[in-house]
Amino acid sequence: MAARPIVEYPAIVLMTPGDQVVNFDRDLESLVKDMFETMYAEGGVGLAAQQIGLSLRLFVMDCDGIKLVAANPEIIFLEGEQGGEEGCLSVGKVRAELKRSERATLRAQDIQGKTFELAASGLAARCFQHETDHCDGILFIRHLSPLRRDLVTSKFRKMKK
Ligand SMILES: [Zn+2]
Repeated sequence: MAARPIVEYPAIVLMTPGDQVVNFDRDLESLVKDMFETMYAEGGVGLAAQQIGLSLRLFVMDCDGIKLVAANPEIIFLEGEQGGEEGCLSVGKVRAELKRSERATLRAQDIQGKTFELAASGLAARCFQHETDHCDGILFIRHLSPLRRDLVTSKFRKMKK
C-alpha cells in the first residue's frame, strides 16, 4: 500500500475517457487502497484513476460524510444549481468558481462489482460530478469560459516554476 504520484494537467491520460473496470479482484482492491492513500496524502476529497496515470473508469471519494469506491460511474440524475469554488489535485489545487448541479445521483459498481445508486447534494454532489467527469476524460477547467480557463492554467504553470 503506497501513495502514488499525482498526474497533472496537461497529461493526455486526463483528457482521455477511461476503460471500463471488468475485473473485481485483488489487484483492484490494492489499487483502490493506493488511491485512498494518495487522496489522503494530498488532502483531496476525491481521486480518479486518471490522476495516478491509469485510464480506467474508477474513482474514490471521502467527502461530506460519503466515503465510497465507484467503478464505471454514471450520473443518472441531476437537479438544481449550486455555486462555489472547485479545484483539482491534477491542476495544483488552483480553485475557480464553477456552477454545478445541487443534487446528483450516482450509479456505479462497488469494489465487489455490485451496482449501487446513491443520491447526494451540495459538496458530495459536486464531487460525484467532478470525479465522474475525470472518468470521461474531462477536467473541471473544461467547464470554464476560455478566459477563466486561461487564468487557472497560467496560475498553475506559474506554481510549477
Ligand atoms: Zn480532479
